[in-house]
Amino acid sequence: NPTRIISQITPFSSSNSPHWTAPEIAEAINGRINKWGPPGTISTDTRDLRPGQWFLPLVGQNYDAHCFITPELSSKGCIGVIGNHVCKDWDMGFVQVDGSTLNSLKQLGHFARKRINGCLIGLTGSVGKTTTRTMIALGLESIGTVYQSHGNWNNEIGVALTLIGMPRNVGFGVLELGMSQKGEMLELARMCRPNVRVILNVGASHLENFASLKEVSMAKGEILRDAMPGDICVLNADDPLVMSLPVPMGVKKVLFGRRKGSDVRLVSAQSIDGGHKVQVVLERSEEVVEFVIPSPGLHLALDACAAAAIATYLGVPLSLFGKSFSKFIPVHGRSELEIAENGIKVVNDTYNASPDSTRSAIDLLRAIECKGRKVAILGDMLELGPKEIMFHELILQHCVDARIDLVALVGKRFSTAAENLNIGQEMKLVCAYDADELASRFSRNLHWDDVVLVKGSRGMQMEKIISFIKSCV
Ligand code: ATP
Ligand code: MG
Repeated sequence: NPTRIISQITPFSSSNSPHWTAPEIAEAINGRINKWGPPGTISTDTRDLRPGQWFLPLVGQNYDAHCFITPELSSKGCIGVIGNHVCKDWDMGFVQVDGSTLNSLKQLGHFARKRINGCLIGLTGSVGKTTTRTMIALGLESIGTVYQSHGNWNNEIGVALTLIGMPRNVGFGVLELGMSQKGEMLELARMCRPNVRVILNVGASHLENFASLKEVSMAKGEILRDAMPGDICVLNADDPLVMSLPVPMGVKKVLFGRRKGSDVRLVSAQSIDGGHKVQVVLERSEEVVEFVIPSPGLHLALDACAAAAIATYLGVPLSLFGKSFSKFIPVHGRSELEIAENGIKVVNDTYNASPDSTRSAIDLLRAIECKGRKVAILGDMLELGPKEIMFHELILQHCVDARIDLVALVGKRFSTAAENLNIGQEMKLVCAYDADELASRFSRNLHWDDVVLVKGSRGMQMEKIISFIKSCV
């Protein structure tokens, strides 16, 4: 099928993305065609702009991308600009708009949504959106064409770009919706108007902008607010904060989780193959299916259960859904297990960190069998607000309980937590200011038969440590 897009295999393909004509663009953003240009796809980034694309310059607090509109941009193949102004010798298309180009981008997103015929699935949650999104896409590929968000595009820019690039005749669109403040989710949900609205979980991520987890849940719950009869809401039956959210009248609820009464129930999840894989049993009505996720981490079982609830509701037989996991590959930087050439087993979880995902990563480390030691290299978890040290203390306590042999910490929050708990008494500990310092001080500490988890918030740049581990010993 030529319109099939398997994002895990080809991370992002714009070959099927709709080509926008100048009049369509002008209509969507209420702009003026100042200079005609041919139809093309739309980009906001000149660094990966491809020939045949319109460029929409965004304006931020510290930059104005209009400055990238130069004659060289047209020699790169740019066919037109959607913006406030162009440079002096600009001879390509130009749809002009006054005011915010971010607003124009969102208007294009709204306009694109109206023309998409397929079923859209919008998912939010504190952890697991990207992972579950890829699982849903894998399952749905057996019954239709699927288009999913690129990378981690889950804010207003990413969601608008996803809609703008989505083929109009797609079978299923799977969109990740993220938020860090009240009101953001409502805006995203109004732009993409998902037919299936999913809340995976509520946890302590982006807590600095909220007074409590209850507030976080309410902000995520905005995804449900405009649901219409005929839409469905897919909710985590095990999460009381998710279950307490109001669902509009006439909207069907589909539940997933371990709890009895869930529409798709996680009957069991077990680490197998020396902790490298997870065996899952799911149940839906009378049907039971057992399958293996070829990747470590018991937390994946609940993500798979959520994906199963969505895919089976949309028509994928449960057994076929289970089979789709033979193709599952973790998304880069999320519980990725690799055996380096020097023999060290490395779990690359450097994409990001929150208390929930760090706990599950430590559990994953505990489950992996090895002859040597279990080593956790943990970077600070950011954006946790006034109780941040307490969250770091809880993680260190979890390392003690999980009998991790060696813990290396990067950042001042973990160092403070380690001092508060006097944790050096209970386990072997190394503390460093940043990833570079840890890498340089750690060189003689690893053995070929160790298994090493590396995790931390994006800002901690823990990926630097991965290449170091691979090159040491
Ligand atoms: P972001 O908000 O940064 O986009 P996300 O919600 O898309 O994150 P993922 O990228 O899928 O989430 O995963 C982030 C981290 O959470 C990874 O370390 C992953 O292994 C872990 N994770 C995924 N699912 C779960 C889960 N159900 N419970 C706990 N941790 C999870
Ligand atoms: Mg994500």
